[in-house]
Amino acid sequence: MTGLIRPATPDNIAEAGRLLAAGRLVAFPTETVYGLGADAGDDRAVAAIFAAKNRPRFNPLIVHVADIAAADPLVEIDARARALMDRFWPGPLTLVLPRRKGAPISLLASAGLDSLAVRLPDHPVARAVIEAAARPLAAPSANASGAVSPTRADHVAQSLGAAPAMILDGGPCRVGIESTVLDLAGDAPLLLRPGGIPAESLADFLGGMPATIATMAAPRAPGLLESHYAPSLPVRLNAVRPNPGEALLAFGPAPDGATLNLSAGGDPAEAAANLFAMLRALDRPEFTGIAVMPIPAAGLGAAINDRLRRAAHPRRQTEGTGP
Ligand code: AMP
Ligand code: MG
Repeated sequence: MTGLIRPATPDNIAEAGRLLAAGRLVAFPTETVYGLGADAGDDRAVAAIFAAKNRPRFNPLIVHVADIAAADPLVEIDARARALMDRFWPGPLTLVLPRRKGAPISLLASAGLDSLAVRLPDHPVARAVIEAAARPLAAPSANASGAVSPTRADHVAQSLGAAPAMILDGGPCRVGIESTVLDLAGDAPLLLRPGGIPAESLADFLGGMPATIATMAAPRAPGLLESHYAPSLPVRLNAVRPNPGEALLAFGPAPDGATLNLSAGGDPAEAAANLFAMLRALDRPEFTGIAVMPIPAAGLGAAINDRLRRAAHPRRQTEGTGP
């Protein structure tokens, strides 16, 4: 037991809501596994999730809402998605849907993608925490990257130490495995992750079993499903200064005329929080390319560099199997 673990009383849930609204991290139980929650609209809070989990990559996170209506401003919900929500929410089904323009959600939470994963958890504490915070919460499993998902509060404390400001104890998780992730943002439904809702249960709503990465007719290149927003301009890494025509994405002390700075003070968490928004902001036809200054690999720097290497990688335009 650590002092961070608190019983899920109304007072502690209210305090959790205040902490989340102030940009802090709170771990809380859901019916699947314990989640590490942050204000999904706060770039810095979302960056803190990646730092706490020591994730080497910016995987997109699931955004948790307190009721179906709260998903409306975030994603485009067609009749099929609506029917799935009506049937399976609250519950362990995550839907990946087109992100609404102007959705008040950090670009880092969806790793720069035009889609967003949303879920309504079936756990009274999870829903009370989201309501107390009065905002959608980004929440991956509350464990260090690569470790087993936590199904008890003390698992969270063992794996994450003091990274969360509070760990709400709601007892063991009922389902114990992660949510099923169904991607409805592409041409055909795609099961991205098997989980708490069996794929067979989804078939009636989809006119058949969803494709999986393994059964897809035209297998996409490994990693493509996780492919993130790639700027249309070429990206040049480890730049000292911009070439003529290039935009400069700086980090730390920058040469005069730097176009944007991920973090003038050289703070990797600030840089992570700014990364996707700044890449998008510089991806404009008035520039010939985006030159990015070197970013040290420590801490969140590893995930930032991973993302930048992908952005700089030659495009797969000829592959013909893209999203
Ligand atoms: P976790 O947060 O650890 O439970 O994992 C979230 C899962 O949802 C991962 O498998 C992500 O790749 C997937 N995911 C979340 N958002 C998206 C998205 N916008 N597009 C595709 N997959 C997503
Ligand atoms: Mg996980």
